[in-house]
Amino acid sequence: MKNITLLNINNIIYTKLLFYVNPKNNNYNRETELLKLDGVKIMPILEQLKEATQLTNPWINSWKNEGKKVLGYFCSYIPEEIIYAADILPIRVRARTCTDTPMGDAYLSPTACSYTRCCLEQINRKEFGYLDGIVSCNCCDQIRRLYDNIRYKAPFSYHYIMGVPGYVSETTLDWFKYELSKFKVSIEKNFNTSITDEKLGDAIRLFNNSRKLLKEIYELRKHDSPPITGSDVLNIISAGLSIPKNEFNALLTQQLEEIKNKEGISDYKSRIMIIGSMLDEPEYLQIIEDLGGLVVTDSVCLGTRYFWDMVDETSSPLDALGERYLSKVSCPRMTDGHLKRAQFMMDMIKEFNVDGVIFQRMKFCAIWWAEIFMLRDKLKEEGIPFLDLERDYILSGAGAMKTRVQTFIEILEAR
Ligand code: SF4
Ligand code: SF4
Repeated sequence: MKNITLLNINNIIYTKLLFYVNPKNNNYNRETELLKLDGVKIMPILEQLKEATQLTNPWINSWKNEGKKVLGYFCSYIPEEIIYAADILPIRVRARTCTDTPMGDAYLSPTACSYTRCCLEQINRKEFGYLDGIVSCNCCDQIRRLYDNIRYKAPFSYHYIMGVPGYVSETTLDWFKYELSKFKVSIEKNFNTSITDEKLGDAIRLFNNSRKLLKEIYELRKHDSPPITGSDVLNIISAGLSIPKNEFNALLTQQLEEIKNKEGISDYKSRIMIIGSMLDEPEYLQIIEDLGGLVVTDSVCLGTRYFWDMVDETSSPLDALGERYLSKVSCPRMTDGHLKRAQFMMDMIKEFNVDGVIFQRMKFCAIWWAEIFMLRDKLKEEGIPFLDLERDYILSGAGAMKTRVQTFIEILEAR
């Protein structure tokens, strides 16, 4: 707190500056919502979590100031626990500040999705200057080409691409466990460290705690009057992908207590489930929620598919990670998982009392295009209304989207 005194900012309300001075302050007073320290108020927890979603944030700065490494990764199939167990911070690469993609357009195919273009652009512009390396996997062809181009055009000192099988069987599970052990050895060699079973076990427990807390938030969203919006939930999950998990868990625990004591939202018109690939813009969900559609659950990369399944804490850590990541709620990169995904969607619809589904489909994302085509058939069979929205990673065409969402919500209301 000495910096605060130095800056002599007593009685400043809600200043970001204060937050940057002391990002780790967990001394939270739920009754007043704002914490008072020496007459100074700091950000409520949700605002802190929103701050954490930025590509660069005080937690990353503080981590780097301690001389520690940060690795960026692209897909929910990368086991962050292995990175964390090496005392390296795993950061999910997102490119929220991207506005145009001349570099992405020049180096990636015209049919590459805009997420990959934006990532290449932002990496080339050194927006992730703090990264000490990139970890990827063969999750989809476009991510693979992104990885190639990063190596070629904006190389880091460490690159790793992991093989993830496209379907689950005893053989592929063995193969995947072997891939995990190779990845572990690569990190150990490159960063001159040792990842013991004990460290891996600790990381697994920490990440499982995070998953449990997020699930508790989702439980509250089942209520008739959920105490949190979908856009705020997306902010919270995104924060967890950008800061150390122990600090995230501490903030999340406080946030959960706060949410439990909040009055629920009852003035919505319909309950919406969102399905699709990468979605890290709370503004996208905000548009839907401003029109009266409360987002109550999802199957997206930065949603349930990221945290829903736990890692077994009782078996050997690498085996447990292999089993969890290969059998988790899958995305359509897993060729054998459609029926399970359709079942997961139907279970979610039932448990969260969903009125309608919105598919958000990134342009040129072939795997999701095919999947959504099949999921729509299932919804038709079950008589559940849906809306299929194609989108770019950069939020554009909000006007057209609003018109379509508004009509959809009117249809749901009329039922
Ligand atoms: S949709 Fe699937 S393949 Fe694409 S980033 Fe998400 S988890 Fe990875
Ligand atoms: S949106 Fe689709 S094509 Fe783009 S990275 Fe994700 S899974 Fe791959």
